Amino acid sequence: MAFEPQTDAASTSGTPGGPPALAITDLVKQYPTGTQALKGVSLHIPEGAFFGLLGPNGAGKSTLIHCTTGLAGPTSGSIEVFGHDAVQHYAEARKAVGLAPQDLNLDHFLTLEETLDFHGGYFGMNKKARKERAAELLDAFSLSGKRNDRANTLSGGMKRRLILARALMHRPRFLILDEPTAGVDVELRLELWHYVQRINQEGTTILLTTHYLEEAEQLCDRVAFINGGEIVAEGTSADLAKQYGVGSLEDAYLELVGRKELSRASLGEDIA
Ligand code: ADP
Repeated sequence: MAFEPQTDAASTSGTPGGPPALAITDLVKQYPTGTQALKGVSLHIPEGAFFGLLGPNGAGKSTLIHCTTGLAGPTSGSIEVFGHDAVQHYAEARKAVGLAPQDLNLDHFLTLEETLDFHGGYFGMNKKARKERAAELLDAFSLSGKRNDRANTLSGGMKRRLILARALMHRPRFLILDEPTAGVDVELRLELWHYVQRINQEGTTILLTTHYLEEAEQLCDRVAFINGGEIVAEGTSADLAKQYGVGSLEDAYLELVGRKELSRASLGEDIA
């Protein structure tokens, strides 16, 4: 069956009462241009959670992810991944994280197998483990037939699957999905939903950013709204709807971005 999860239960099951997958405290990020992208963000994601981070473009989502994965340095505040400081103990913290970035940042001249193999090598996996894991993931993502093809020959949907396989290569305990379903067709979106839900159920903690509110509602047990570099609300979808005095996560989001006139509840009223 396609998308059979291939996590290692031993590596994903945590210690009860152990450190959270992600603990961000008072994080400030100011870019050299002067833009303060994060203005004192605190966020806790317990192990095993499926957590959604939602906000409009420019809210600070990518900056938060980049600071967590060492692609950007925090100006102040702290970030811990399973208790490892993301700056002081970068290697341990980074090893625990699998990142499926929004941009399809594949090396187009590598084959699919090489893409996974190089990634595994970067994370210190030995040759045998890399070979086995790559074969397992290519199979799980229905990419085995393309293993010797170059990444630039793949369709957009296949590239998305390869990006996710690459993120999972070193068996991370914490998976960050940055808009994983942007621009994919309905079938692949649903396949990806099933897949990530299964690996979450097997113990992998997930942080998802998405612009699809129904995706967050369907998958996430908790959601935070970020706006202007600040976390402005956090809770279950139902909590957020209640907090904004509306009936759905989407309507809560529209309140957040000041566009409540776009609510689906009022669709059709304009022509009535
Ligand atoms: P999101 O991912 O929610 O769209 P970002 O984290 O990309 O938001 O951006 C947050 C803010 O930081 C925006 O104002 C953006 O223009 C700015 N920004 C992002 N990256 C950089 C950078 N490398 N240099 C300067 N400003 C940046």
